[in-house]
Amino acid sequence: MNMRWIGMAALLLSSVALAKTPWQAITQPVAGSPQSIGAFANGCIVGARPLPLQAGDYQVMRVDQRRYFGHPDLLAFINRLSSQVHRATGGTVLIGDMGMPAGGRFSSGHASHQSGLDVDIWLQLPRQRWSQQQLLQPQPLDLVMADGRRVNPTLWSPDVMALVKTAAQDRDVTRIFVNPAIKKQLCLDAGADRNWLHKVRPWFAHRAHMHVRLRCPADSLECQEQDTPPAGDGCGAELESWFKPHQPGAEAPGKTTPPPLPPSCQALLDRHFAPE
Ligand SMILES: [Zn+2]
Repeated sequence: MNMRWIGMAALLLSSVALAKTPWQAITQPVAGSPQSIGAFANGCIVGARPLPLQAGDYQVMRVDQRRYFGHPDLLAFINRLSSQVHRATGGTVLIGDMGMPAGGRFSSGHASHQSGLDVDIWLQLPRQRWSQQQLLQPQPLDLVMADGRRVNPTLWSPDVMALVKTAAQDRDVTRIFVNPAIKKQLCLDAGADRNWLHKVRPWFAHRAHMHVRLRCPADSLECQEQDTPPAGDGCGAELESWFKPHQPGAEAPGKTTPPPLPPSCQALLDRHFAPE
C-alpha cells in the first residue's frame, strides 16, 4: 500500500469518526418529566419513553438501531393510529425510525427526528407478523414509478390511502411528508373530503414511507413549533411545481454546518459527558 492510499484510508476513517454525534453515545433516556426541546431538526428530549416493541397492531423495524424513543404524545399517537388502521384494514402498521433516547442529531439519514415528535411509518400494511430477520432488515417497497411522476398502481391501495388519511386526521399531527407522486395520488383519490390534505406535504424521497410530525406538547415550553402549512389542499400549483424540470431547489438540501444547539440541549450534553 503506498502513502497515498494510507493517507486516503486515514482520511476516510477520521471522517467516519467525526460523523458520529455525541447524541448517539447516550443509550438511555434522560430522567425527568417529558420535555421536547428546540426544533425538530435541532433539538433534544428529556424523559423520552421507549415504544413498547410487542404490540398487536404494529410492528417495530430495526430495533437494533434503538431509534424507538419519543415523547409520550408520540407513543400515544402511534397506538391510536395503529389500532384505528388495524381495525379498518386488518393490516399492521410498520414503525420505522422515531428518535434516539435523548433525541438529538443523527450522523446520517435524518435531519429531523431530534425532539421526540417525528416518526417514519412505512406505506404497506402486512397482515402477517414479520420474522425477526425481516424486521431487522426490512425491504422498503418503492411506491413511486421510476419517472417519479406517479405511484406504482400495483402497490397503491385504498388501505395505504386510509393509513395516510387516518394519520393526517389525528388531532396531534401537524405535518406528513410524502413523495410528490404520492401526494398527487392522494389528491386524485380524496374525493370531497379534503380537509386533511393540507397536512400532507410533498418532499424529496419518502417513496416507501411517510414521515409524521406532531405539534409541540403544550407543556414543552422550549419546543419550537413550525408555521402551519398553507391553507388549501395543496393539490394545485405548489404540487405541480415539483414535477417541473429545473425548478429552483430541485436538489435535496445538501449538508450544512449544524446551527448551535438550544442551550438546554447543550447543558444536557455537558452534564452527560462531564467527568465524574
Ligand atoms: Zn423521517
